Amino acid sequence: MAAYVAGLNEKPFRAKQLMQWIHQRGVSNINDMSDLAKSFRATLLDKVEVLSLPVIKDEHATDGTRKWLLDVGAGNAVESVFIPEDDRGTLCISSQAGCAVNCRFCSTGRQGFSRNLTAGEIIGQLWFAEHLLRNDPNAIRRIEEYPTPGWEHTGRVISNVVMMGMGEPLLNYDNVVTALRLMLDDKAYGLSRRRVTVSTSGVVPMIDRLAQDCPVALAVSLHAPNDQLRDQLVPLNLKYPLRELLAACERYLPFAPRDFLTFEYCMLDGVNDSDIQAKELVRLLANIKCKVNLIPFNPFPESGLKRSSAQRIHAFASILLDAGMVATVRKTRGDDIAAACGQLAGDVVDRTRVRERAIHENQIKLDEEADAKVDADDLDLDEEEQEPEYQSERSVQWLKKLDD
Ligand code: SAH
Ligand code: SF4
Repeated sequence: MAAYVAGLNEKPFRAKQLMQWIHQRGVSNINDMSDLAKSFRATLLDKVEVLSLPVIKDEHATDGTRKWLLDVGAGNAVESVFIPEDDRGTLCISSQAGCAVNCRFCSTGRQGFSRNLTAGEIIGQLWFAEHLLRNDPNAIRRIEEYPTPGWEHTGRVISNVVMMGMGEPLLNYDNVVTALRLMLDDKAYGLSRRRVTVSTSGVVPMIDRLAQDCPVALAVSLHAPNDQLRDQLVPLNLKYPLRELLAACERYLPFAPRDFLTFEYCMLDGVNDSDIQAKELVRLLANIKCKVNLIPFNPFPESGLKRSSAQRIHAFASILLDAGMVATVRKTRGDDIAAACGQLAGDVVDRTRVRERAIHENQIKLDEEADAKVDADDLDLDEEEQEPEYQSERSVQWLKKLDD
């Protein structure tokens, strides 16, 4: 903005004024920016428009969650989700149209990658949602109920931003960092670093860069306690295996806004949710200060996967808790409008690739016989160690059936 304003031969403080008008006050009509000189306003009217992405769909869930489908052109769309809670209002925003990482259980990943969003398209999601909700009487009523100190005075509706929508934020690094800096900027949204979270599937070099450039809260999508299974679930693991990923996490910790990181773990029935895998996870994360957030898998039609039962999730969580770890189970929000984690797919996108990959539920039923063929005797391990090997082998076999 400073460079743009300088290019118009205006003083640098004009950039600050513009930032405040646009981002703090949500004003898009240049004529309403009353403290700008008339001549400057005329120049701007001639050259610029303050816009966010066109809204294709605006959906309200029964639990207050709200989802917008936003047009990013060329038949692509991204989604943003607002999640009201008692003590906060969280906006989940997208960083890419589609995603190249192609995680097994993620609807966005299954649709393929279209393009990176620009910094404007990323921050535009916050600009749009914040200022729209500020004028929404229901959202405003909620602000008054929020006990967060200081927050109510700012009049903000969105207190937290999570980069957990569509796309892998660290594969659109420069644009994401520009947008993050605006979220933190006092002249824009003034969010604290603790209240802005980047979620990544584990782009190791970019985790190190983020620590230097804009160390916001970090959530790492783990989903498996060993490389064999994680290779299958999160293909990026083939490039950055767990040892490297966890080392990057440890390097990030001193820069993190809190003294722990979050690991996300999507609970997939029969794939990554056994007691043995929970114990393996405890061992894997023994030396890193962290919280594990268990996400009940949100099914989508082509996934062929199932959500772990509530009892299984509870048992899994109990093992982590008994081992002294911090573990939480993510509440599923916006279920009735497919706004939950991993369900964001941009409905208007050409879904040909998704359909090509669609696998009928019947074809992926676990074949108990094939499973039984895994011969534990082949493994030169004592009994205690045999089971984890067997378990992870079993999960991988199960996933291979999906490929067939
Ligand atoms: N690309 C980033 C951020 C977007 S996904 C990442 O992968 O971290 C945000 C979170 O939702 C990730 O932890 C992701 O693994 C999880 N997720 C994806 N699909 C899901 C699904 N179908 N059900 C539950 N969680 C899912
Ligand atoms: Fe991409 Fe994240 Fe989905 Fe994996 S979970 S495909 S990284 S958006």
